[in-house]
Amino acid sequence: MNESGKLRVAVVGAGAAGLCAARHILSRAELFEPPVVFEQSARVGGTWYYEERVGTSDDGRPIHGSMYRDLRTNLPKEVMMFPDFPFDSHLPSFLTHWDVQQYLETYCKSHDVTPHVKFNTMVEEVKPISMETDEGGAVRWEVISRGMHGGHNTQTFDSVFICSGHYSAPHLPSIPGIEHFKGKVMHSHCYRCPEPFAHQSVVVLGAGSSGVDISFELAQAKAQVILSHNKPALPFSLPLEIKQAPPVVKVLDDGSLFFQDGSVAHAQVLLLCTGYKYQFPFLCPKQLGLEVQHHLLAPLYKYLVLPAFPSLFFIGVCTVICPFLHFHYQIQFALAVLDGTVQLPSRELMDEDAERERQRKTQMGVHLLQMDSDQWDYYVSLAKTVGLPPPNPVIQSLYEEVARQRRANPQAYRELNYKLANATEWQLLNAPSEQ
Ligand code: FAD
Repeated sequence: MNESGKLRVAVVGAGAAGLCAARHILSRAELFEPPVVFEQSARVGGTWYYEERVGTSDDGRPIHGSMYRDLRTNLPKEVMMFPDFPFDSHLPSFLTHWDVQQYLETYCKSHDVTPHVKFNTMVEEVKPISMETDEGGAVRWEVISRGMHGGHNTQTFDSVFICSGHYSAPHLPSIPGIEHFKGKVMHSHCYRCPEPFAHQSVVVLGAGSSGVDISFELAQAKAQVILSHNKPALPFSLPLEIKQAPPVVKVLDDGSLFFQDGSVAHAQVLLLCTGYKYQFPFLCPKQLGLEVQHHLLAPLYKYLVLPAFPSLFFIGVCTVICPFLHFHYQIQFALAVLDGTVQLPSRELMDEDAERERQRKTQMGVHLLQMDSDQWDYYVSLAKTVGLPPPNPVIQSLYEEVARQRRANPQAYRELNYKLANATEWQLLNAPSEQ
């Protein structure tokens, strides 16, 4: 706390989560100083700021985004939006990345967030410092940042919100013999558009949402695609250009790909749609007692509070969620913890709670941070604790309907347009096209 008696909060990242954090901190000016939002790039938007370039920028910044040129959202705008900030009513339900970027820029301007963003500034270190004068040994945080055009800066904060995203650091599976592959190996993080792959043979590894979407794009560009994955046969029809195969298990000496069923194929491109790993290069996990693995970040109480350091918040690290809705509730919960409205349990109880949750997820056979149907009770619980209205039930109902449509027809479900009729019903505005 500074001389004004107000709390100082640092926000790492000016993507959707960081902007939402800044907006809510600014709305509590009686208790919080304006936030400092550190953003390594020159723009807000994070994932939604499309950069054609891959690798690093001219000033040595790693290109953060994994967005591809023709992506349309997999959630309709009615489900995607921050609950207090609707998308333009003229837009279709499923949006381009450009629409979402415009929305986030408008959100930022409407809430006067931009003056608080330190652009071209990368956070290099976030570390706890004990303040001996604080009763109870309250921890403060030192944030060391580097301007992309030179110069380091160190500032002290009462709390840090980590909003740095987790779709940027590719997870690269280890494939024995990969050094023999004679074609191009790339990760979907560096995929932008299908034209360079026209008429080429491409093995896409992984049938998550990016793997399936990108396979369709490649097929339209007349690439010959083998979609290699470890799921049961996909329950929808695929264009002739896409064949399915089990996982690639190794590369043979002659450079051909060897699949789990013993089949073999030559390919010009191996496109890894194998997801992303959690990465926080500015934190020292050992010092914080934080376990960071490919699919795991633990222990986190309520999926956002580190029990040993309850003024460090991880926003939006869960998967299979409605991200903007999720940020909305997590951030307001975190602010209620800081302003004392919500009393956290003791460290021991939070650790026990996080461990129980980990065991429950292990028994369910899902990754700890994967939410899906669990997310609704989670939002209700956060909302109730903080005294906010819970999500409108129609959002869940539309989310579930879209998931059904996506499973049945992942190529065409985005042609549908929905409208919220009232608090419990939505309407379909156009008929599904023939498959
Ligand atoms: P990000 O958008 O990743 O923003 C993080 C920000 O932090 C970036 O601006 C980055 O530059 C900055 N940063 C990182 N490290 C540092 C540092 N050390 N110092 C300073 N700044 C830093 N969600 C949906 O709701 N609907 C969709 O249809 C959808 N489609 C998606 C498609 C793709 C290909 C991907 C990758 C994601 C998609 N998502 C979708 C999920 C999307 O990630 C979330 O919607 C949301 O944008 C995440 O916001 P965020 O702020 O948590 O992270």
